[in-house]
Amino acid sequence: MFGKVLIANRGEIALRVLRACRELGVRTVAVHSTVDTEAKYVKLADESVCIGPASSALSYLNIPAIISAAEVTDAEAIHPGYGFLSENADFAERVEKSGFTFIGPRPETIRLMGDKVSAKDAMRAAGVPCVPGSEGALPEDAKEIVQIARSIGYPVIIKAAGGGGGRGMRVVNTEAALLNAVAMTRSEAGAAFGNPTVYLEKFLENPRHVEIQVLADAHKNAIWLGERDCSMQRRHQKVIEEAPAPDISRRIITRVGDRCAEACRRINYRGVGTFEFLYENGEFFFIEMNTRVQVEHPVTEQVTGVDIVQAQIRVAAGEKLWLKQRDIELKGHSIECRINAEDPFKFTPSPGKITQWHTPGGPGIRVDSHAYNGYTVPPNYDSMIGKLIAYGETREQAIRRMRIALSEMMVDGIKTNIPLHQELMLDPRFIKGGTSIHYLEEKLAAREEVARK
Ligand code: ADP
Repeated sequence: MFGKVLIANRGEIALRVLRACRELGVRTVAVHSTVDTEAKYVKLADESVCIGPASSALSYLNIPAIISAAEVTDAEAIHPGYGFLSENADFAERVEKSGFTFIGPRPETIRLMGDKVSAKDAMRAAGVPCVPGSEGALPEDAKEIVQIARSIGYPVIIKAAGGGGGRGMRVVNTEAALLNAVAMTRSEAGAAFGNPTVYLEKFLENPRHVEIQVLADAHKNAIWLGERDCSMQRRHQKVIEEAPAPDISRRIITRVGDRCAEACRRINYRGVGTFEFLYENGEFFFIEMNTRVQVEHPVTEQVTGVDIVQAQIRVAAGEKLWLKQRDIELKGHSIECRINAEDPFKFTPSPGKITQWHTPGGPGIRVDSHAYNGYTVPPNYDSMIGKLIAYGETREQAIRRMRIALSEMMVDGIKTNIPLHQELMLDPRFIKGGTSIHYLEEKLAAREEVARK
């Protein structure tokens, strides 16, 4: 095991990684920008290094500053968390070339999965079901493009190979609109991601977002840790996640989960990762792989009993996988609400000083947050300030516990989306389970309509 790990992130995930390290007996180095100096996890870490000013480009994305921090503190490994540099293959390479272990997959794996065209090709070859679409990148020839779209059938979605964060996509409903849309997506992708390559997929009209968590060691052993349903989204951002996914047959999920584990062995995957799928009419369609720990990992931890962040660190240290697929049994149900510092109706960010912070407790309740009484939420980063996670023997019990937890949670001084979560926990369609990725947007649009009248 490593003696010391540097945590190249901030906020709740920095605290989560810190806790995992402490339990493993690993010393920690927190790096932080000037606005995060007072963060509690920075004080809890064994050492801390300021790596730059508030702007993330100059701090949390500043590769030379992070490598130097690892050098001066004698850290052995770097944990990238999620977001920031976590899926940056160049960073992973620089970390390894500087003699540290990158807690994540090999740089070439990150590169393969970071390009959506090569990722899809690799998954198709591994027998993972993909959204029907163009075989690889779209050609230049207009006639060929029209032909490919016809064979897929409208509506289609044009996607940038280098896209991410819900950007670089365009839905096309008719042939008349196709070529213009391809040209526009290409030029936007070139400007935004430095790569104009685009591809075509069938646009699924009412899917759910269901993803598979995997865990692989450096010795070609891989297992999958069940699935999560993350369909409750606004602007492609997940709001609520749960495990297991309601109302999908275990037989279908097991088939796709086994394929994911097999794909990991084929591409020599190392670390934790997530295969994201759209699920419609009983079928799974791969859309992309995330080669890092995800925000919503706790719901999987609660139903499997596996500490995903500790597992990630252990396999990065070279440990052979200590779990077999048959050891993974899902028990109970878990739901996560992302708590954001934002207006619950208008969704504008609401940074500022938290004058009162009281978190809930009781059976089955877990709070992952770096916030505290008197903590100031800086305006410079993501608005998520914590996660409320409820576990129950059944989905109904998890929802009941979540309602109670939300009613106990008190945050003053800033606005949060807690009222939205309270509304959703009473929503008949959510209670039934299995809503599509469009449900929340539709509900919010209807709410606006009522407010206008
Ligand atoms: P990103 O990397 O930007 O998150 P994804 O490929 O994961 O891009 O897609 C983001 C979201 O876009 C999906 O969660 C889904 O809501 C929508 N989407 C992507 N591909 C399709 C598709 N073929 N049909 C319908 N919706 C899609």
